This record gives sequence, structure tokens and C-alpha cells, in this order.
Amino acid sequence: MSEAVSTASRSIDKAAIRAKYAQERDKRVRADGNDQYIEIKDQWGHYLEDPYTPVAQREPVRDHVTVAFIGGGFSGLVSGARLVEAGVTDVRILEKGGDFGGTWYWNRYPGAQCDTAAFVYMPLLEETGHMPSEKYAHAPEILEQCQRIGNQYNLYDNALFHTQVQELSWQEDTNRWLIKTDRGDEFTAQFVGMGPGPLHIPKLPGIAGIESFTGHSFHTSRWDYNYTGGDPSGAPLDKLAGKRVAIIGTGATSVQCIPHLAKACEKLYVCQRTPSSVDVRGNHDIDPEWFKAIATPGWQQRWLENFTANQTGQPIEEDLVQDGWTDLSKRVRSKISQLDPKDMTLENMMAAYEDSDIEKMEEIRARVNTVVEDPATAEDLKAWYQQLCKRPCFHDDYLKAYNEPACELVDTNGQGVERITQTGVVVAGVEYEVDCIIYASGFEVGTPFERRSGYDTLGRDGLKLSEYWADGMRTLHGTHINGFPNLFMVQATQGANLISNYPHNLTECGTTIAMIVKHALDNGHQTLEVSAQAEQAWLDLLSNAPPMMIGSTDCTPGYYNNEGKGWGDGKGVVAANGYPAGPVAYFEYLKGWRSSGNFEGIDFS
Ligand code: NDP
Repeated sequence: MSEAVSTASRSIDKAAIRAKYAQERDKRVRADGNDQYIEIKDQWGHYLEDPYTPVAQREPVRDHVTVAFIGGGFSGLVSGARLVEAGVTDVRILEKGGDFGGTWYWNRYPGAQCDTAAFVYMPLLEETGHMPSEKYAHAPEILEQCQRIGNQYNLYDNALFHTQVQELSWQEDTNRWLIKTDRGDEFTAQFVGMGPGPLHIPKLPGIAGIESFTGHSFHTSRWDYNYTGGDPSGAPLDKLAGKRVAIIGTGATSVQCIPHLAKACEKLYVCQRTPSSVDVRGNHDIDPEWFKAIATPGWQQRWLENFTANQTGQPIEEDLVQDGWTDLSKRVRSKISQLDPKDMTLENMMAAYEDSDIEKMEEIRARVNTVVEDPATAEDLKAWYQQLCKRPCFHDDYLKAYNEPACELVDTNGQGVERITQTGVVVAGVEYEVDCIIYASGFEVGTPFERRSGYDTLGRDGLKLSEYWADGMRTLHGTHINGFPNLFMVQATQGANLISNYPHNLTECGTTIAMIVKHALDNGHQTLEVSAQAEQAWLDLLSNAPPMMIGSTDCTPGYYNNEGKGWGDGKGVVAANGYPAGPVAYFEYLKGWRSSGNFEGIDFS
């Protein structure tokens, strides 16, 4: 095994890089893990208020629907669309936001855009006939696509917005779910879908003194355009002229909004604990003629499958998507393919992966020097970890923002902001006075599922889902849960576990549940439920899965690795294993499973 990696210009000492990665990680590991963050409730509750849509008064709903779906993001929309296609016309989507969109309803910060090519990221493009205007569409266009789906499939008719489920319980006597909400609704549904979304509960950093700040503040997922001026389409944030602003956090959200802030504020302090890796973006408008040529029947499914195959190391003839993610996997594949067949051991393949990663990260670090004028700032912006330790970012204006005279990087040497005072933020004993603090501090991931959902689910005999999952998530396909009949979860874990294009998981799952519901309705079945044996057999199968590419405790802490603690207990809904043969094989398997008409493992009655 070689201990040096060659890039175009030089040979790199792998041992030195590994040591630097470990040193940077160790600096950041902290005992409190997820508890370092403040849960937004009670005195902090105003950080969750909807700045975009006034809450409309309405009468509580008391009726029955065939399917209720909790969550109006991509999961609810694709599942709802597929159910409507299957002939179920009374799907009711419940959504805590004021419209459809989920993450794209809330995240309207300036510069928000998808990081995976829009052709595979945006759902149901072919069904709705929409051509993304850019390779990486901006948030307003993605939100419009959500609304387009809602309109095309009449999902608005039955939807309840600004509505949070408070109770979800199985009624044994009627074979229905009872749903109660914070708007006084109390209705039943034969089937319930849940689209929990991986990142929907904002969190605040637990920085000493945070409550004492008397200036303005908000979380990026509730952007206050009344305060900043501008709009989600990128109009200048004109009200920030003359304002001193601190933004706390430098994850994927910050990378996208900092270029806009840096141009608008009198002074912008970017408080950094860990730098993001920021690779080339290369966004461009889409040529309608080109699109016409590629958008032949079945095009989006072909693109989805091509992306996923490419991403997961399967042979493909052509990389249709060509984005930062596919580049990453092509590089790894190329490195591994250089191994002599007789040296193709797991150890050598992992070493080839590491070589590829070091080369890529060296490129990303070198890029910082070519863009950022101040050498000390450039040094502080370099990410010292493997690329998949944290969410990879792609942007062409982020690093340039640090050349703006107003923009100052306040690096915290991995320790975070020390204190917040009435008037500013303190880092390494220096106070930076500001008018506004923007919390780009991310979302809850490793906290209990029922806390993030806002309710526990009561299945047969009052069994709580939190209790059933006390020793880890238990499902068939990540979707069906024994003891919880007529219930579906639309998410990635214990299924494909595909993280680089999350919506692909959701469309496959939505298609599947629509077929099962149709089967039950067509055959007059009242209930369907995965058997305990089928669920256990699935878990046994998943226990053979290779280790996940993300989540290692060797990585610097973040939500990928449960803030440095890892997912060893298997309790995280982001963390459990996926299908051992990988996403391509899983989607193939799932297609066969649902198309057979048997739905093996599910008992209908
Ligand atoms: P993240 O969780 O990625 O980032 C939170 C940031 O806050 C980190 O930089 C973190 O530092 C920092 N932080 C936390 N506490 C402190 C503290 N006490 N002092 C200083 N800094 C602190 O949240 P994001 O909203 O940026 O992104 C979340 C996810 O949302 C992304 O990973 C991505 O999956 C998704 N997203 C997707 C986008 C897209 O597809 N276009 C765009 C934006 C987000 P540290 O790293 O040290 O913990």
C-alpha cells in the first residue's frame, strides 16, 4: 500500500494528511454532542414562526379520508401524485408550513439552490412538463415545482396548511387511524403516510449568553426579508446597508447566502467553527433546444437511474448528469480501476478511495488560494477532513465573498463562538459588535424521531413507535412497520439509503405505496401490515450491509456522524443500514417486489 499520493504537481504524504485530519477532528469533538444545541421551543419559539404566509383561520376538520399524508414536502407531493394517478382522489396532506414545499417552503434564504443537478433533484419534471431553467435551479423555481405538482394533482383541495399533527393513533375497532392536530382537527384515515424529511427542525447553537442579545436575529430557514430587504430571487438585500451582521455557521446554507450578505452589509462577520469543502459549481442556463432533444419519453427516470448508478460505482455508458457528485464517484472508480486485478482487495480498494479523496481535497484546498486574496483568510477556509465527512459544497462565489471589503472571516479555531453579549459575538476574547445575528446553525438530526415529528405514533394496543424503536429502527424497506398497520414512511433509511439525490428514494417509495394502497382498495382489504417475520428477515438482510460511506467517528463532528458520537446504537433514522447490494439493486428489487402484485411480507386482511 503506497503512503504517498501523486497529484499533477507534487507528491503528498498521506500520513501527514491523516495526522492533520485527526488533529483538526480532535479539536472539535465535544462531550455534549447534540446537547450543545438549543431546541427551539418555549422562549425560543418565535424563531420558528412563519415569516412567509399569514396563518388563515379555518374551522377544524372532522371527517374521513382514504389517505392522510403528514408532510407537504417532496415525500407528500410525490406520494400524493402517485396516489391520485392510482385513482385515490381524497388524499389529505397535512403540512406545518403555509404551502407545499417542505424544505423549499422554509429555506428561502438568498442564493438558495439545489446542489444536485435539477434534472434529477426536482421531482416529477416529466409528469409536469417542466424544464429546469438552470442546471442547479434556485429555490423559487423548486418551490414553484412543488406548487405545480400540488395544482396538477389537485392536492390543494384537501390539504391542511399551518397544521401540526399532535396525535396519531390506530383505532382497532374501525381499522382506521385517528389524527388530531394543533388546529383542533380530529379526523380518520384508512391509510397514513409520513414524509418526515431529514432536516426540518431548525436548531440554535447553545452559545453562552445567546438569550442576552438585544439586536435582531433569525435562523436562515425563516429568513427575515422585512429586515434585510431583497427577496428569494436574489434582489439586493438593500436594508442591510449600514448594518453590521454576524452569521454563525459555515455549512451548505451559509455557503449559498454569504455571497449575497457580503455585498449588502456594511460589515459581515462570518463566524466559522469548521470550514466547508467548496468545490466548483459551474451553473448555467438550460438551452430549450438541448432539453427538447434529451426529454424523450421516460427521460427523467433514465437520468435518475444513470445518476444513481454512477454515484454508487455501477458501470454506465455515459454520465448524463455530470455534476459535482458524479465527478466524485468517477474519480474513485477510476482510481480503483487502476488496481491490478490481483490486487483488488478491500484494503487496496479503500486505499485507492483514500488516494482519490486526498487528491480531490488537495484540489479544493488549492482552489482557496487561487480565489481568496488574503493568505491568512485563505488558510482558515481550508477544510481538513475527507470530503464525505461533511456535506460537500459547490459554489463559484462563496470564496470570492471574502475579497469583499465588508466581509471578515472570524475563525474560531474549531471552538465555536465563545459568547454572545447584548451587543455582539465574542470569539477568542474579542467582541464583534453587530446589529443582527443570523443563525446558520442547521437542523436537528440525531435527536429522537418523535421529538422531531412533534408526536409519537400509537399503533396496535397503544404501542408507541418510540418504544417499538427503542433499540433501533425496525421496518421493511424503511416503509412498513409491524404493529403499525396501514402506515407508510417515505424516506431513505433501511431502503436505498441514497443520500446524494434524496428525492430518488422518495419517488420510488411514493410509487410503491400508491401501488399497495390501490391493491388493498381494489381487493376490499381493510388493513395491510408487514409481518413480524418479514420485518426481521429484512433487518437480518440489512445487517450484512457494508459500512456506510458517511458517519465515521474518525470524521470531524457534524450531523453526518451524530456530532462525533457515531450511530453505533443504530437509533438514528438517518443512520441504520441500507440494502447491502446498494441503491441500484435496491430500486431494481423494489420494482420487482411491487410489480409482482404479491407484496411479499405484507399481510392483507
Ligand atoms: P449545517 O448543520 O451543515 O451547518 C451548521 C453550521 O453551524 C456548521 O458550520 C457548524 O459548525 C456551525 N455551528 C454550530 N454551532 C456553532 C457554534 N457554537 N459556533 C460557531 N458555529 C457553529 O447546517 P446548514 O443549514 O448549513 O446545512 C444543513 C444541510 O441542509 C446541509 O448539509 C444539506 O444537506 C442541506 N442543504 C442543502 C442545500 C442544497 O441542496 N442546496 C443547501 C443548504 C443546505 P460545525 O461544522 O463545526 O459543526
